[in-house]
Amino acid sequence: MLGYVLAVDLLAFAVIAVTTIAVPVAAHDWVRLAILAGGSMVHIEAARGIERLREVAAEGIPYVNLKGMWTFAGALVLPPALAAMLIAVTYLHSWFRLRRVTPHRWFFSAATIVLAAAAAACAIATITPDDYPGYPSGPIGLVAVVTAGLAYWFVNYTLVVGAVLLSNPEGKAQDALGRLSDQLIGAGSLGLGVAVAALLLHEPWTVVVLLLTVLGLHRALLVDQFQAAARKDPNTGLANTMFWHEMAGKELARAERTQLPLGVLYLDLDHFKTVNDTHGHLAGDQVLNAIADDLRRELRTDDLVGRLGGEEFAVLLPNTTPSDTTLAGERMRRRIEVLKIKVTTDKGSTELNGFTCSVGAATYPAAGKSLDEVLLAADTALYAAKNAGRNTVVTAPSIG
Ligand code: GH3
Ligand code: MG
Ligand code: MG
Repeated sequence: MLGYVLAVDLLAFAVIAVTTIAVPVAAHDWVRLAILAGGSMVHIEAARGIERLREVAAEGIPYVNLKGMWTFAGALVLPPALAAMLIAVTYLHSWFRLRRVTPHRWFFSAATIVLAAAAAACAIATITPDDYPGYPSGPIGLVAVVTAGLAYWFVNYTLVVGAVLLSNPEGKAQDALGRLSDQLIGAGSLGLGVAVAALLLHEPWTVVVLLLTVLGLHRALLVDQFQAAARKDPNTGLANTMFWHEMAGKELARAERTQLPLGVLYLDLDHFKTVNDTHGHLAGDQVLNAIADDLRRELRTDDLVGRLGGEEFAVLLPNTTPSDTTLAGERMRRRIEVLKIKVTTDKGSTELNGFTCSVGAATYPAAGKSLDEVLLAADTALYAAKNAGRNTVVTAPSIG
C-alpha cells in the first residue's frame, strides 16, 4: 500500500517536472489560472456544507466531487505546470475548508488528479498539437476534448480504485468501484469542465454565469438527495422513526384543523427473536424487508408506514375512522400471516412462513386529544394484544 501511494506521488512530481520544462507559459495562461482558481474557490465555499456531508458519507468508497469541473478545464487550457498549480490550490483549499483528511491521503488524491490531468493534456497535445494548450473549434476539437475526458477519468478512477482495494483488501470489490450515480456526477463534472474551458478560450467573462448556474443546481439537487436519504430507514426503505414522528405531528395538526379523524397502528412481530435464533440474523433482516414491502403495498398513497426500530412498525392513516383503522390493522395482520418469504441461511436458501404480528390501533380524537396521547394509546393497545396471546389486533378504548 505504502509503496503504491509513494509511487503515484513520485510519478506525479516527475510528470510536473518534465512538463514544466517542456511547455512554456504565456501571460494569458496566468489570467486563465486566476479565473479557474477563483471559480473553484467560490464553488467550494458555496457548496461547503453539502460536500462535507458527502465526503464523510463516502468513507470506504471513492469520494466523487465536482472539483473536476475546474481541474479538467485546467488540464484542457493551461500548460501542465499551471494545471498542477490549479490542482494544488483547489485541493489545499478544500482540505482547509472541507475536511482535514490525513496529509498523505490528501496528497495522494491531488497526485491522482495531476496524473489524470497529464493524461488529458497528452491526449490534447497529440491530437491537436498546434493549438495546445487549448484546442481548436470544429470536429477535431470535439474528438480531442472527448479523448482527453476519457483519459482523465480512466487514470483517476484506476488509481483511486487501486488505492481503495489495497487499503481494504477485505472490502467488497463493488464498494471499491463506487456507485454508478457517483460516476455520473464525476462524468458530469468533466462535461462542465469542457464548458468552462470553451468559455475561457472564447468568452472568459461568461464563466461567471456558468459558475452561478452550477452552484444553484449543486445545492438544489444534492440537498434534495440528502433530505430524501434522511427520511428513510436504509434497510427497508420505509420512513425512519424521526420522519414518521415528524409526519405524525403534521397530520395531527391537519386533523385538528379539518376535524377529520387520524388513525395510528403500532405493529410488532411476534417472537421475532426465535427467527434470528433459528435462521440467523441475515435471514431475520430479509424477513423484515419482505414484511416492510408487504406493508407498503397494503397501504393507500396517503398512508405512511415507518420503521420505529428493530421489528416494530407504525402506520399513519389520515382521514380514517376508528373502525376502519382497526380493519386496516386486521388486513395487515392477515397478510403477514400468509406471507411466504425466501431467505438465505447458512444452509442455503429456503422459504419461511407462518409469521405473525400483534397490532395496537388508536385514533385521534377518539383515543386521545394530542399526538402523545394517541401514540401512548396505540402502544398500550399493542401491549394488550401481546398479552392476549399475540397474532391479534387490539383497539384502544374511546376516551369519549
Ligand atoms: P414478542 O414481540 O412477541 O414479545 O417477541 P420478540 O422476540 O419479537 O420480542 P421483541 O419484540 O422484544 O424483540 C425484538 C427482537 O427482534 C430482538 C431481536 O432478536 C430482533 N430484532 C430486532 N431488530 C432486528 C433487526 O433489525 N434485524 C433482525 N434480524 N432482528 C431484529
Ligand atoms: Mg416482537
Ligand atoms: Mg419489538
